[in-house]
Amino acid sequence: MNELAFDQVTFTYPNGKTPIFNEASVSIKKGDKLALIGPSGIGKSTFIKLLMRYFDVEKGCVEIDGTNISEIPTASLRTKQTLVSQETYLFNDTIANNIKIGKADATLEEVIEAAKKASIHEFIETLPNGYETKVGELGGMVSSGEKQRLGLARAFLHDGDVLILDEPTSNLDALNEGSILKSINDYNKDKTIVMISHRKSTTAICDQVYKLENQTLILQK
Ligand code: ADP
Ligand code: ADP
Repeated sequence: MNELAFDQVTFTYPNGKTPIFNEASVSIKKGDKLALIGPSGIGKSTFIKLLMRYFDVEKGCVEIDGTNISEIPTASLRTKQTLVSQETYLFNDTIANNIKIGKADATLEEVIEAAKKASIHEFIETLPNGYETKVGELGGMVSSGEKQRLGLARAFLHDGDVLILDEPTSNLDALNEGSILKSINDYNKDKTIVMISHRKSTTAICDQVYKLENQTLILQK
């Protein structure tokens, strides 16, 4: 069965003139790793917003495990899908608590395991108080790559059925891009992954690459 599906989706923003999607379809099976590429402003973020039901579609439907997303309570949707945003926002709290967002009862062992998978454990160990270091004490010590890894650690700990990545490497140089992609690829081979990117290099770990063009989703690979 498809874990996620876009079935003949048409969507126009309430104040928009032209549709972002016009009868667009795609099926994502459990364990599939799918990337959506396309130039800036074409509608990639909107794809994520429809998958996560930040907006309802106009025609057609978005399905999870065969159920129309509009029939799934929002709270259960949020436990099933884990989003890694383009930018990771850190609270002025400890590193451990920042990783635990959305999973307050996680143990330190679980936090460390997630940090290891995101290749940020060694960095955290070098901080004055390790996992208890407050983000505010770090000043400019956190690079965009490290922030992105903290965001990944947060997502790995949350461990929803579907990992959704919004431009996971857009703020990074080629070296950091490769290492972030490796962490995502090694995290869990059976995990369903959906990512959007305007950079083709990001899609290397995906087995299906779609392009958003003429308001539809076109298979590239
Ligand atoms: P991408 O992620 O490919 O850069 P987006 O999905 O962010 O593209 O945006 C697609 C188009 O929809 C753009 O023209 C953008 O300005 C427009 N758009 C995005 N969000 C909204 C919104 N909330 N209301 C109206 N138009 C929007
Ligand atoms: P991204 O680069 O991640 O696609 P943008 O900078 O295009 O994000 O958009 C930032 C926010 O502004 C998003 O939440 C998007 O939905 C909203 N937005 C973008 N374009 C419009 C628009 N024309 N009207 C209203 N909101 C918009």
